[in-house]
Amino acid sequence: MNFANELSRWYNTNKRSLPWRDTNDAYVIWLSEIILQQTRVEQGLPYFNRFLEKYPDVRAFAGASEDEVLKLWQGLGYYSRGRNMLKTARQVVSEYNGVFPVKYEQLIKLKGIGEYTAAAISSFSSNEARAVVDGNVYRVLARYFGINEPINTTRGIKLFRGLADDMLDREHSGQHNQALMEFGAMLCKPKKPDCSICPVRLSCIAYRDDSVASLPLKLKTVKIKERHFNYFLVSDGQSLLMNKRGDNDIWANMYDLPMLETPGAVQAEVLIELPEAKELFGEDIGIKSSYLARKHVLTHQHIYAQFIQIAVPAGYQHLQKYTRVEFGDLDKIAMPKIIYSFLNNLINT
Ligand code: SF4
Repeated sequence: MNFANELSRWYNTNKRSLPWRDTNDAYVIWLSEIILQQTRVEQGLPYFNRFLEKYPDVRAFAGASEDEVLKLWQGLGYYSRGRNMLKTARQVVSEYNGVFPVKYEQLIKLKGIGEYTAAAISSFSSNEARAVVDGNVYRVLARYFGINEPINTTRGIKLFRGLADDMLDREHSGQHNQALMEFGAMLCKPKKPDCSICPVRLSCIAYRDDSVASLPLKLKTVKIKERHFNYFLVSDGQSLLMNKRGDNDIWANMYDLPMLETPGAVQAEVLIELPEAKELFGEDIGIKSSYLARKHVLTHQHIYAQFIQIAVPAGYQHLQKYTRVEFGDLDKIAMPKIIYSFLNNLINT
């Protein structure tokens, strides 16, 4: 059985119709690839459509402000992707006169484009013979060949990349790569793959050995950091104070609320007595309401966010570093999802 032929046959019958599939426009492919990183197609598709409508080409994208891009990106997470896209678009305009490159060696030098994305854009747009290895491809190869090497070790990465390269249909590399990724996303899924209707099951080692559920192997290496954000809501009923975040931490350059980070959970009554809280809001802080802490899960961090509505002493002068935003203007600024949903609930209920 020829795996590549079976794969191609399966793909032609089963592929989803997606707007970035029927184009060789490198800009459109780049837009879809970055938006879909760490994101499900159903979630990313409306963002892709909105971005393409607002910025139909790379020059239009390059002319956007960072605030506009972050606002459009809001809710998608991993915000550095949006910021890097703007840098990439500007780089394409300045270095390539607004013509998006299609060659791997040029793409790999652009901001925010790694080996995977460069291989995807070059093979999809110009059929360059570059094997794409994403999570779907690792899974399919590990199962089909019954490979017990973890996919996140240097040795494993080298092995799987070599294998993907050996299998690449060099005449039709774009279609081959798309087919392999689609096969992993639709049929050889992480959980409950559809082995019973799989066209290559008779030559699949994991299927034969009943080890489908345990492959691919992955070493657990990431240590999750827990962080406690105590947010203060300072509002006069029509507007509230917002804080523009710096660019050295998560949610860079987005807006959240005035905040104190503490090493562990701290009750509101204890929090307002801390010298750091008094430095922010004065000696006499009154608690109006406090809300149960919410957990927000990021890849390497778990954020526990507590919200406390406070009254600040009249005439307290040290709030200039914050931005006063009218409730009606909250939709115009980019903020992390946890802040957006808290404020949305509060104001609309
Ligand atoms: S038989 Fe199952 S595990 Fe093997 S390639 Fe097909 S879907 Fe994947």
